[in-house]
Formats: sequence, C-alpha cells, structure tokens
Amino acid sequence: MSFKVYLARTRGFCAGVERAIAVVNRALEKYGTQKVYVLHEVVHNKHVVADLASRGAHFVEHLSQIPNPEDKVVIFSAHGVGTKTVEAANALKLIVIDATCPLVNRVHFKVSRAAKEQKEVVIIGHTGHQEVVGTVGQYDGPEDKVHVILTPQDVEKLDLVSNKAIFATQTTLSIDETALTVKALKEKFSFIEGPKNDDTCFATQNRQAAVKTLAQECDLVIVAGSKNSSNSKRLSEVASSMGVRSYLIDDCEGISDEMLAGATKVGVTAGASVPEYIVQDILKVLAQKGGSEVILTGDEQIHRVFPLPDGLD
Ligand code: SF4
Repeated sequence: MSFKVYLARTRGFCAGVERAIAVVNRALEKYGTQKVYVLHEVVHNKHVVADLASRGAHFVEHLSQIPNPEDKVVIFSAHGVGTKTVEAANALKLIVIDATCPLVNRVHFKVSRAAKEQKEVVIIGHTGHQEVVGTVGQYDGPEDKVHVILTPQDVEKLDLVSNKAIFATQTTLSIDETALTVKALKEKFSFIEGPKNDDTCFATQNRQAAVKTLAQECDLVIVAGSKNSSNSKRLSEVASSMGVRSYLIDDCEGISDEMLAGATKVGVTAGASVPEYIVQDILKVLAQKGGSEVILTGDEQIHRVFPLPDGLD
C-alpha cells in the first residue's frame, strides 16, 4: 500500500478549547484536586476529558452529583450553561468558574437581550446539544417564545406568534447547510433580525474551509475527533458532501486497512477539541501503512488566544 498524506494546516485546538482546558488546569493548581468539579465534558473530546480526570478533575452531569458543595469549585464547560444553572450553583454556594467560550457568550448575550425586549428567538442548532441547551437557557421569558430548528424543512413548520423576533445559531454548524436554513427563515419571516450570515465561529469557519481544500485534493479524508463533537462531525460531513469518503475517528486506533484500501491521497485534519498529539499518532500509523510523504495544505492557522476568566489568569 502506498499513498500520499495531505495534512490541513488549519486543524485542532481553537482558542476557546485551549482556554477551557487552561481554566481546568489553573483551577486544579489553585484549589487542589479534592475541590474541582466540571459540569459536563469541558470540551467534547474523550482524550482531553480523560487527561484532565487523571490530573484530578471530577466530571459530573448534574450539580447534585457534587458532594458537600459548599466551597467546592464548579467549572462550566466551553459550551456554556443556562442562567438557571448559574443560579443553582450560586444557591449551593459553589465557587463558580465559567469556561464558556467568549464566542458562545456573545450568542448568549443576544438571546438574553431579546428576552428583555420581549422578542421571540429562533435558535438554529442541534436540539439537546450542550451549547444549544445553554443558549436556550439564556431566554428569561415564556418557553414557547424560543424555538430550536435546524433545517429549511423545520422553517416550513415553524410558526412565530409575533412579528418581533431574532435568530441566532450554534457556533459549530455546517456553514453551507446553515446558510440554507437562514435563507428560508429570512424569506418566511422578513422581519426577523439576526447576523448577516450566522453565528458560527472563526474556528468552525476556517476548519471547514480547510477540509474543503483537503476534499478537493484527496480521495479519502480522515477527521480526528470524538463522535459527540459537533465541529468535528461537521468536518467529516463537509468532506462527505463533496463526494469524498470520510471517517471520524477518535485516534489512530480507528485506522484500518479497509479504510485505506484504494486511496492514493489521504487527507488528515482534526476538530477544534482535538490535541495535536492525536494527529501526530495518526500520521505515524499512516506512515507505517505506506503514507510517509506528508504534504501540508491550505492556509496557515491563525492562532488566537482568549484571556482566562478573572481570578485565574
Ligand atoms: S469551536 Fe468556536 S465557539 Fe467552540 S470553543 Fe472553539 S472558538 Fe469557541
């Protein structure tokens, strides 16, 4: 077996993920391993979560799972939480550290303001995804005034009760598919306010642009990322939508000879929550299987840094 490997320059950790991981590490240094709890996976990557857990962070799905909560530390994940969760944490006298990505917070602010202005809100995103749950949870108003939709077909079925509404989107959606939903939304509800395109973040946008470049060059695209990572899944779907075989794998153990069969140009990229060592492990396995020539493709990654929350920097 012999093939070339095309590696996306723009891949892996984004600024929001780096910040969230740094928050947990700093909290462990500052408060010690007995006290630090993280509500939900801090980012959607099983290796990152396992690594932080091995350093002493406790991951929980509910605040009620934190024993003797007074003076324990709770960290909210990069995906954000609703205001009721913040209130519940304060009521339990937990020390709250918010690792919500600043770009998710920007969407939270818009939804919160819409509630104050008594506007309805349409959120384009995946029902049940942690980020969407947190964004819906910013709306302090009647529940029937917040709508979560995803596709243009959902727009057809959508009824708004007033003519004052905004839309917002999950930050990690497919750019192309979201554009169709936004178009349908604006056509049906001409009064709706919102961003020019969507609220997808720079990391989502430039990783999807990079995977398109890979898909143009390659006959197989391997995306490193966990199955519950929205942005990683979208990368694999974008490649598939361009007619290229694509696989989403957690790590090098996901590579098989069947996967590589017949491929002459294998693209490799990684979602925004994937550590670089996972990519390097994948490259090593590909080299063992006949893909030792690695060609960097696409634009240089623009490295951004988000400051840590107050009290941790
Ligand atoms: S993918 Fe975007 S929104 Fe999510 S953490 Fe990274 S920069 Fe923030």
